[in-house]
Amino acid sequence: MSDEKSKMAARVALSQYIHSKKLRRTPERYTILDKVFDISEHFSIETLYTALEEDGFHVSKATLYNSIQLFIECGLLRKHQFDGKSAQYERATRVGNHHHLICTQCGKIKEVKDVALVNMLNARRYPTFHTAYFALYVYGTCSRCQRANKKNEKKK
Ligand SMILES: [Zn+2]
Ligand SMILES: [Zn+2]
Repeated sequence: MSDEKSKMAARVALSQYIHSKKLRRTPERYTILDKVFDISEHFSIETLYTALEEDGFHVSKATLYNSIQLFIECGLLRKHQFDGKSAQYERATRVGNHHHLICTQCGKIKEVKDVALVNMLNARRYPTFHTAYFALYVYGTCSRCQRANKKNEKKK
């Protein structure tokens, strides 16, 4: 799906959700949603806040937080709690096809695609449980930290 198309699809999904839950239809939610779909990576509330400010769109952090919660509820956004960091968010349409390698030393996050593994997990069924999605986090040491560790060892 092109970015414009996925943006439109997200707007429709949000409208339907707001309607079904009889919530108030505020235009700022759509502005925030559009911005979320402009960001191609993971982001924190802080990053989103700054990006909106740069656009000249002023919104309180409480409103931002509430909107994010709403997007998660209606399945447009996924929340990540990477090692020790503040919560990071990512578009649900991006999540299904990659998983995350997390460096426990510097906190760097790398996305990797592993089609074989994803297909295996997608095919997995658990009795009496309906799977909506899965998330896989792999923890370890990134190449930079490995190099730094080696250097430090030599110094000793
Ligand atoms: Zn690292
Ligand atoms: Zn990701």
